[in-house]
Amino acid sequence: MTRTLVVVGHGMVGHRLVETLRERDADNTWRIVVLGEEPRAAYDRVALSSYLDGKSAEDLSLASHELLDDPMVDLRLNTAATGIDRTARTVSTSDGSGLPYDALVLATGSRPFVPPVPGHDLDGCFVYRTIEDLDDIRAAATEGEPGVVIGGGLLGLEAANALRLLGMRAHVVEMAPRLMPLQVDEGGGQVLSRLVGDLGLTIHCGAATKSIDGEDRVRSVTLADGTVIDTGVVVFSAGVRPRDELAQLAGLERAERGGFLVDEGCRTSAENIWAIGECAAVDGRCYGLVAPGYSMAEGVAEQLLSLGEGAFPGADLSTKLKLLGVDVASFGDAHGQTEGALEVVYANNAAGTYAKLVLSDDARILLGGVLVGDASAYSVLRPLIDRELPAPPEQLLLPAGSGIDAGALPADATVCSCNNVSKEDITTAITGQGLTDVPGIKGCTKAGTSCGSCVPMLKNLLAECGVSTSKALCEHFPQSRTELFEIVQATGIGSFSELIGKHGTGRGCDICKPAVASILASLGHGHILDGEQAGLQDTNDRFLANMQRNGTYSVVPRVPGGEITPEKLIVLGELAKEFGLYTKITGGQRIDLFGARVEQLPLIWRRLVDAGFESGHAYGKALRTVKSCVGNDWCRYGVQDSVSMAIRLELRYRGLRAPHKIKAGVSGCARECAEARGKDFGVIATDKGWNLYVGGNGGFTPRHAELLAADLDDEQLISLVDRFLMFYVRTADRLQRTSAWLESLDGGLDHLREVVVEDSLGIGAELEATMQHHVDNYSDEWAGVLADPGKLAHFVSFVNAPDAPDPAIRFVQERGQIRPGPVSLPMPAIPNQEVLT
Ligand SMILES: Cc1cc2nc3c(=O)[nH]c(=O)nc-3n(C[C@H](O)[C@H](O)[C@H](O)COP(=O)(O)OP(=O)(O)OC[C@H]3O[C@@H](n4cnc5c(N)ncnc54)[C@H](O)[C@@H]3O)c2cc1C
Ligand code: SF4
Repeated sequence: MTRTLVVVGHGMVGHRLVETLRERDADNTWRIVVLGEEPRAAYDRVALSSYLDGKSAEDLSLASHELLDDPMVDLRLNTAATGIDRTARTVSTSDGSGLPYDALVLATGSRPFVPPVPGHDLDGCFVYRTIEDLDDIRAAATEGEPGVVIGGGLLGLEAANALRLLGMRAHVVEMAPRLMPLQVDEGGGQVLSRLVGDLGLTIHCGAATKSIDGEDRVRSVTLADGTVIDTGVVVFSAGVRPRDELAQLAGLERAERGGFLVDEGCRTSAENIWAIGECAAVDGRCYGLVAPGYSMAEGVAEQLLSLGEGAFPGADLSTKLKLLGVDVASFGDAHGQTEGALEVVYANNAAGTYAKLVLSDDARILLGGVLVGDASAYSVLRPLIDRELPAPPEQLLLPAGSGIDAGALPADATVCSCNNVSKEDITTAITGQGLTDVPGIKGCTKAGTSCGSCVPMLKNLLAECGVSTSKALCEHFPQSRTELFEIVQATGIGSFSELIGKHGTGRGCDICKPAVASILASLGHGHILDGEQAGLQDTNDRFLANMQRNGTYSVVPRVPGGEITPEKLIVLGELAKEFGLYTKITGGQRIDLFGARVEQLPLIWRRLVDAGFESGHAYGKALRTVKSCVGNDWCRYGVQDSVSMAIRLELRYRGLRAPHKIKAGVSGCARECAEARGKDFGVIATDKGWNLYVGGNGGFTPRHAELLAADLDDEQLISLVDRFLMFYVRTADRLQRTSAWLESLDGGLDHLREVVVEDSLGIGAELEATMQHHVDNYSDEWAGVLADPGKLAHFVSFVNAPDAPDPAIRFVQERGQIRPGPVSLPMPAIPNQEVLT
């Protein structure tokens, strides 16, 4: 029999409950009605700040289409639970309905605490909890003006960074003598204050707020020591309070300090009513982190399905985060409150790092620690809490996480605390399921899917399980693609045979030949069909065209930015008629002509080149198109000339050979008609210039590009795209799109930003110079073929009968055009052939 579960609150934890229940309830025993007071389905509140740093509400959403379309789930947004009738077992809602329930789970989260200082309710005062809060703050922010955050804890610093991202000069007011007093100790707090102060924040520690002043809206904030900060924006981030208002209405017990009082199975004082997440006080204690909430959700799902006791296993309150670019981690007994605890501290003021380990009184057991400035040791240290140290403490404290590896962790150590996954769970999945990479582990165990701090450890565990992560390109080259690129660039080697002779073995294969051909082309070593290079290319590159399923080829001339003259359109139409080609407009804003036989390619391209067209590189691992919207010339919303910029970018990077294809887009305003964020690099106009996004793609696993830099002028934009593309070309694996490359980079987007924008490796000028070399030496590949009889001689269907067309190629008519007829030959099997998009 199907029963009804009502879940009140569709936040992170309520959502996890619904997700878990639907995954495990194979017999559909529960129909779930979810009441969500917010106007949108659950989103990643932990990543809320990224909403002001380039992510959209859609990016943050946790609700999958499958869940939203699931007939067993009835999600009611904008609908709050307003009361509970325990006798009738119904929940009343803000839209006036009464919902019967067999089981009820309260997942109402917390509300920000606003201290009752005079003026706290003036216009211009905000809290920092929901997407709507951030929209309000954004609307009120004035660039260059001061903004004040009250509270210097974890969320306060996130809010301060938000003000900074909005161009404001952020002040942080904290009552305690240091920042993040709950997580870090005095030494760590000092380093943290210095590091964030260097980033332009003004910190007022040990300071109480006396009043917020203004008539109808905020004009200034006065501190207890008399300091006055003129500001129009105040953000309260002074802690949270559990949302337990339904307790009184329903006669449920509350904990002394708030929250629905629940036992270790998250059961409230009433039968069939549970509370989970931040609103639940397990044995009297509330938890303000998401991981304990997830454990509670999974435990309650277990109970609902009668799969077990589902007892809350207790919480690991460890935290690791990057605040304003500064790594901060705190784990276990960070403040050394255990009796007799000893502390080992390593501080490097020059480097701005601080690390402390808290040990048992005999210095054998790790109890906790604090890391500021460099938290790379966190993924190794946190699972070791309450365990014997595997190495001397000073060795563990050295930067980059010590000389110890995954082998030092016991099997039951929790590696992913967000999702409660142990080392043994992961190693069993690796060996049992034959996993070979981190995405595989994530998919199978959920480890690494929340805060991501355990991802370095997942890599170590793969290695410990003997999963070879050999960097060798193939059996002929022990080097990775990146290393081969460096070798070719440093030595000037210009041919495959020289490279394999000096640095590899054997004669090469389908993997290394095109990869080396691509490296040689990226570094400007002549035409891709010159001499020996021709034999390295795969079929598409060899004929400078994409082979289609019936063995014919497509012809795709470049149409920079999608802008084309009537004269050129007429040429395309005439050619299509004359050669009987199928024509189709592509998603990349150009025109594909399909159905050309190999011997027709030079004839068609001669006409195209004479008309001013050039290769569109639709066949190559190279820049494809830079799609653009119509921009401010025509569109009334446009704020920049997106067409001119798209043409400039397309002409600059045309012909750039890369590990994979590269697509780009330019939109003339935030409405994003060019879908630039679905591209490897996307440019979106702002009032002040351009925002640059990187690492997007469509395909099997769509990914939105992420903001790399904002409000760039034209020249800044070009130099950053130069650096980004060249860094990608230089360091990505073969066949790795920018999205996968970005995800595989240690440090991800932050690292990329450091290298590309902040030039942390000092290679910015070199990357730009290499790109300029490419730009200066560009020439059209098809024009190069037409000018060289030797190259032209390859374009025949049968080498021993060069004038004979292939008789197997037949067409039929459909909708006024040709399409391939029944294929009498086996489908051509071309390695790495792509569907053209
Ligand atoms: C900026 C920010 C950064 C954070 N960073 C971290 C971090 O790094 N690590 C970490 O572990 N945690 C972090 N957190 C905390 C984390 O987001 C919370 O622990 C988590 O969201 C709690 O989930 P929840 O479902 O219990 O509550 P919530 O996510 O708050 O969801 C509760 C939902 O219930 C709704 N609701 C309330 N009452 C009703 C009602 N009567 N009827 C219907 N709906 C109702 C609310 O509107 C809300 O949508 C952060 C929080 C913020 C704001
Ligand atoms: S993105 Fe903006 S400028 Fe471009 S077409 Fe759309 S609305 Fe117009």
